[in-house]
Formats: sequence, structure tokens, C-alpha cells
Amino acid sequence: GLFPGGLGPQPADSLLALIGAFRADRRAGKIDVGVGVYRDPQGRTPVLRAVKEAERRLVAGQETKAYLGPEGDAGFFEALKPIIFGDADHGARLVGLQTPGGTGALRLAAELIARFNPQARIWVGEPTWPNHHPILQAAGLEIMAYQHFDVATQRLTFARALDALSRARRGDVALLHGCCHNPVGADFDMTQWRELAQLMRERGVLPLIDLAYQGLGRGLDEDAAGARILLETVGEGLLAYSCDKNFGLYRERVGALYALAGEAAAAGVVQSNLLALARANWSMPPDHGAAIVRVILSDPALAADWRTELAEMRDRIRGIRALLADADPRLAPLRGQQGMFSTLPLTPQQVARLRDERGIYMPASGRINLAGLTAETIPTFVDALASLR
Ligand code: PMP
Repeated sequence: GLFPGGLGPQPADSLLALIGAFRADRRAGKIDVGVGVYRDPQGRTPVLRAVKEAERRLVAGQETKAYLGPEGDAGFFEALKPIIFGDADHGARLVGLQTPGGTGALRLAAELIARFNPQARIWVGEPTWPNHHPILQAAGLEIMAYQHFDVATQRLTFARALDALSRARRGDVALLHGCCHNPVGADFDMTQWRELAQLMRERGVLPLIDLAYQGLGRGLDEDAAGARILLETVGEGLLAYSCDKNFGLYRERVGALYALAGEAAAAGVVQSNLLALARANWSMPPDHGAAIVRVILSDPALAADWRTELAEMRDRIRGIRALLADADPRLAPLRGQQGMFSTLPLTPQQVARLRDERGIYMPASGRINLAGLTAETIPTFVDALASLR
């Protein structure tokens, strides 16, 4: 036959295998800290109240399913701007479009970079979300590494990151997690953001900010502060946004790509390229999730309810971090980290022992989803970790 031709088999998604193994485990008291979605204390990933209400209104009021365009829902794109950029008015220098999730935004950003500067190298922190590399490579970008964090000591390696980025060439791009770093939870502080932004400005390095967890760290404005400093200082940049975690919309695939150019004319050219790239990828993004976000953000009462629910999710995660830090001094660094994820300094063998001996499931990297724990399961979890040493 014609297949498989040049195809070789690809490794299965190890997180999916983990889900299967967890499901098949019959032990009472098993704990899943592997899967990367928010969970409430009952272990559910509920549809938010504000989302349910917005969906009700959409079902009742929507009069057509006719196509929008490659830019997606313009009302959604506009409504997010003050949440992301705060008071900053970038006017016609800021363009962009709705995308299928943060993943779609990253992919489009990578393709845009490959178009306007084929020589650009992209600097990616280590460790990072495992999908970053395949997405960037798919667009043909050359990846360079900077060290973001040391898992063994649970410390940012800021000096090493700066040192690596000081070797970037003019026109290179640096990928930065806006907040709630996945997988290590360690974000730069404001002084570090400013120093980094200054260096990138001097070296002519374009920021590509991945903002996938706004509001799940310290707060909506706090979590965007680094991105705002970067864009303000460098004056140009790309920002890949996801509403999939902070609105709990995961499978609806809700994201946006924002591009800030130095001048309005350049922004116009960028926008026409983004639209062309979108047409060649998915033509138009799926509508429903973005429409939900638009409905929520354009009604002050619904928006307030969403903020309340977001704060509940954030407070729960922070609470779990505090309980872990209090339970074992070795877990103290988790208190100062942000968002759903931290990475424990465990070997793959230790991760396997936790699974086999204790029914605790996490990927071999040692990344844990804090929202997979509750006040009730924390003693078991901490005890299992202690038993490894
Ligand atoms: N960036 C990071 C750091 C993520 O963790 C994720 C989701 N796991 C994404 C981007 C992509 O989000 P989405 O599901 O909206 O594509």
C-alpha cells in the first residue's frame, strides 16, 4: 500500500496512558496529581456558573451560525484587552485574532515569526510545557535553550537565563511564561521582569509571551504584570492567550493571539499576515467558547461572578500550596510558587514507586497538579513522599 511510506510510529501521549492506568487502579484512596485541569475539592472540573448562564443566553438568543471570519469573534478579542493589557492603550499598534486555544495562538505566532524572520532563533526556557517544542518546530523555528529553573533546589536560575539571552541575536525571539509557569510554578518577580525586559530591548529580542493561566496565580492584574512590563519596555511583542483554564473552557478551545508592533503601519501588515496564516490553518476558529467569554465580559454582573469563581479556584490552589508547605519543610518552596503546577525533585523510579506502592499518579517528570489534592488527601500524599527517602 501507499501507507506508511516514510512514516514511523510516534510515541503515545504518556499523560493519556497515565489517565488510563489511574482509571484501572482499584485501590481506594488513589490520588491523581497528573492530569492538568483544575479540580474542585470533590475532584470535579465543573462548568463555571457564569459559563452556564452565558451558554443559556447564547442558546436562547443566537440567530445564526453563519461564518464569522478568520479573525473570529471581534467582540471577544476586544473584551479581553483590558483584562490582559490593563489601562495601556496601544491603539492601532495592537492587532491580532481569535485562535483555537492557546495552542493555536502559539502555532500562529511561530508561523508568523518564521515568515518575517526565517533566521530568527527562538529561546525557550528549560524546563517548559512539553508541547512548546513540537509547536515551534512544526513552524520550522530553530530552538535555543535558556535555563529557567533548577528542580533539585527549587530555585529560579535567573542569572543563567539572562546570560543565555545576552547571547541572543537581534531579531531572535524569547518565549516566556507570563505567569503560573507550567511545569514548575516559578515566575519572575517584578525586578527580574524589568531587568529581563531591559536586556531584551537592548539586544533587540522579541518577546513571545505565553499567558495561559491569568488569574490562577496572584490575581488578574498581578498575573499580567510581567507581560505588561515586557511589552511596555520592548515596545513590540506577541502574546498567546488561553481562556481555557481561567474560564474552565478547556475543550471549547478558546484563545487569542495579540501582536504589538512599533507602528500602526507595521501592525497592519502583521494583521494581514495573521489572517492569511489562519486561513491556511483552520480558516476560522470555533465560535462557541469565545462567544461565551464575550457574553460574560460584556455583562458587568456576569463578569463579576466569573471573577468570584476565578478567585475561588485561585484561593483553593493557594490553600493547597500552603498546606503542603506547612506539612513538610521540604515542600516549603511550593508556597511561593504560582498556579496549578509544581515539579517535585523525584526520579522516574521514585515516581513509579509512588504509583505502585501508594496509588499516587504523576508523570515521570515529577510534575504535580496541586488541584488534584484536597485537605483530606494531603497527609497521605506527604507521607508517601516522606517514605521515599
Ligand atoms: N501554554 C501553556 C503553558 C499551557 O500549559 C497550555 C495548556 N496546557 C497551553 C499553552 C495551551 O492551552 P490551550 O488548551 O488553550 O491550547
